[in-house]
Amino acid sequence: MSNLREDIYFAAVGDVHGDIYMMLNLLKKWKFQTGKSLSFILQVGDFEPHRHQKDLTTMDSPSKYKKLGDFPDFYRGQAKLSYPVYFIGGNHEPHGFLELYPNGGKISDNCYYFGRVGAIDLAGLKIVGLSGIYKENLFELTTRPPLKEISTTSNSIYIGFIESDIIQALEYERADILVLHEWPANITAAEDLERFLEYQNIGNEYASLLIEALQPKLVLCGHMHQNYRNTISLPSEAESYICCLANIKQKQKSIAIFCLTPAQEIIELIES
Ligand SMILES: [Zn+2]
Repeated sequence: MSNLREDIYFAAVGDVHGDIYMMLNLLKKWKFQTGKSLSFILQVGDFEPHRHQKDLTTMDSPSKYKKLGDFPDFYRGQAKLSYPVYFIGGNHEPHGFLELYPNGGKISDNCYYFGRVGAIDLAGLKIVGLSGIYKENLFELTTRPPLKEISTTSNSIYIGFIESDIIQALEYERADILVLHEWPANITAAEDLERFLEYQNIGNEYASLLIEALQPKLVLCGHMHQNYRNTISLPSEAESYICCLANIKQKQKSIAIFCLTPAQEIIELIES
């Protein structure tokens, strides 16, 4: 009996920081080389969809990094995203814009935000996204300040996930894919430690907790601007494939292509 469905391909993309044309060119190159098409794109945060200069003033970042980027062209319909892009928030985002959608939604044509925490269903996969990074002082907040206060509060208050975000994510109970900005703690293999000696701490325990609870087959992360892969065993004896992506300026290292088989296996296609 033949399979009812063929393989599906999708891509994961590291921190974009507003360089959307660069992202599309990298993806187009893969399509050109393989003749295959991508069904959707998952993006791990620091996407930086600024609509205009005013959005930039709501980002937490040194002023030298406050660049408008390519998003205005897409927002105004002068350019088109060739694939549906689903992204989470990182720690460099136009919070004045994204906080209009705390529960996620379509922010422009073919462009969807997960919200602070969100779950979407794509190709039969349950995909859970958590926006933000771990900051002890922010984690303890019971709520974030309302959007109307954004011009009088520090932008940095919006960069973290808070305890209720983690609780909400746990309520999804399971996920096929977990999309994170900051790496989970304890995902680097002992033999790779040398590569990360310059960092005191990598990742956060709450992201690790989500992996244990939701048991995703695939975990995507960004933030560190480093390309890294590992497979970790969970207490349940299931395994999670961890895919950390570099930022878009590192070209190929910022992109991972996955094949979803008819049996719902997720396999990264590695260029030989
Ligand atoms: Zn970044």
